[in-house]
Amino acid sequence: MAHLVNVTPVHVSIETTDPEELVTDPVCGKELRRHDSKNMVFRETETTYFCGKECQQEFLSPTYKPRDHHKPGKAA
Ligand SMILES: [Zn+2]
Repeated sequence: MAHLVNVTPVHVSIETTDPEELVTDPVCGKELRRHDSKNMVFRETETTYFCGKECQQEFLSPTYKPRDHHKPGKAA
């Protein structure tokens, strides 16, 4: 196996997970630091963070539906 000097460094994957970055809890809409969130769900391409276990469980619930802030109220 050839030794390549110009290999992409491993730390590039870490740069995308800035612990100070603000993330939004999709369940309650609360903003929190990535670093502070101890409840998260990993999907193929993204990680979703929650303020607490309750929001995480609601998100994972089969009855969970993302809130549509543009259309409050009843459906037509
Ligand atoms: Zn929450």
